[in-house]
Amino acid sequence: MSFAGWGNFPRRQGELETLRDPAAVRRAVLGGGPVLAHGAGRSYGDAALGAGRTLGLRGLDRFLAYDEASRDLTVEAGVMLSDVIDAVLPRGLFPPVVPGTRYVTIGGMVASNVHGKNHHVAGAFGAHVSALTLVTAQGDVVRCSRGENAQLFRATIGGMGLTGIVTDVTFRLIPVETAFIRQETLSAPDLAAAMRLLEESRNRTYSVAWIDGLGKGGLGRALVFRGEHALRADLDDDQARAPLRTGTPPRLAVPFHLPAFTLNRLSASAFNELYYRMNARREGMRVVGYLPYFFPLDGVAHWNRIYGSRGFIQHQCVIPRAGSSAALGEMLALIAREGNPSFLTVLKLLGPGDAGMIGFPMEGFTLAIDFPVSDDTLRLAAALDRIVVASGGRLYLAKDARQDRGIFDAGYGEADAFRAFRAEAGASARFRSLQSERLGL
Ligand SMILES: Cc1cc2nc3c(=O)[nH]c(=O)nc-3n(C[C@H](O)[C@H](O)[C@H](O)COP(=O)(O)OP(=O)(O)OC[C@H]3O[C@@H](n4cnc5c(N)ncnc54)[C@H](O)[C@@H]3O)c2cc1C
Repeated sequence: MSFAGWGNFPRRQGELETLRDPAAVRRAVLGGGPVLAHGAGRSYGDAALGAGRTLGLRGLDRFLAYDEASRDLTVEAGVMLSDVIDAVLPRGLFPPVVPGTRYVTIGGMVASNVHGKNHHVAGAFGAHVSALTLVTAQGDVVRCSRGENAQLFRATIGGMGLTGIVTDVTFRLIPVETAFIRQETLSAPDLAAAMRLLEESRNRTYSVAWIDGLGKGGLGRALVFRGEHALRADLDDDQARAPLRTGTPPRLAVPFHLPAFTLNRLSASAFNELYYRMNARREGMRVVGYLPYFFPLDGVAHWNRIYGSRGFIQHQCVIPRAGSSAALGEMLALIAREGNPSFLTVLKLLGPGDAGMIGFPMEGFTLAIDFPVSDDTLRLAAALDRIVVASGGRLYLAKDARQDRGIFDAGYGEADAFRAFRAEAGASARFRSLQSERLGL
């Protein structure tokens, strides 16, 4: 049997073992040899592929506690974000930070310290975690928070499963009046205008730009989507009939890996053109459901299969604000020159870094671009890496399948401190992924 992350690259031979409770996690850790936690496998590359045994945690799926006064929810680490939303939204509550898909586990969100469209105001998911339980390399069950085992807590947030296995997480929900978002769409003729609009959106709750990397318009022509949780007064009559409805699961699905010829520069460019025109026509304010606003790609199950059986990579970097327009311009120009097909290019402005030792977010612009895997795109990604580190940036480990150790070390100032922390805790011998082997962690 073989399995892979969301990008289907690389693939790993072996079994994904299913564990059902914290006692089984402890037994597995003490069983000898390297292990690694695996959530929903929505990280793109090799972060969730164990170098030894890979332990699937989806069976740890119980809701454990809710504190009305603080709005603190405690769930087991394998609980899906989609299940949290389905349970809490009808009660007027919402997770404080969500990534671009609902099909992730809460443990995976902690280990990657995921950021959402509100990072500039709310920080990453870890900022809202008040406590977690971790099974360490020695099989100890340790409670961690900012006041208890604080260093382990900090290293575990964004620690990519390399400090231990998280079995439960307590995090704070936010109140919402409705399940709808007041969405404002703005178009930008080029990258500079898109960056300016994101800067001007700093006081908005959610903001993100979709960039047309291949368009016939200016380089970096973009649509900027700003959002606020809608109030009841914002809804039309139909929406107001069920203001907290959670919506239905996706109906469309890509049944198998499509042949690689379905994706080429022409089809990607046509898609980008169509997407730009459709949305540019809808400039202005609309009230939309939370599903299309936060999770547009979840509408098509297994959309990752459109990239064919060789899979795809996502190159996601963050570049500090100073120097970001030159670096991002250079990256987009290089991609346009190489003519590689990308359906999806997304730009966001991140707020101050609040990450753990190897957490990703830092203040600046984050650019994410999908490429089908080929020798050319792997070469292009390596050229993009060099621009990123030359401008003081770094790559996101949850999307990474291929950066080398030199690029990683140049971007992550605490890389050696994290290595030393792991070695001292006995974690480097016990918790190992294909990614940690590649990066010498
Ligand atoms: C369509 C799409 C959109 C996305 N958008 C965003 C976005 O906007 N922002 C963002 O930040 N990310 C985004 N992501 C990435 C995604 O949020 C992260 O990769 C997330 O960590 C995946 O969770 P998972 O449960 O699938 O974890 P997995 O992919 O299974 O694992 C990811 C990492 O977490 C570790 N891990 C998992 N569970 C545990 C546990 N219980 N204890 C310890 N370690 C554990 C694994 O070892 C691995 O290192 C997106 C992914 C997709 C597919």
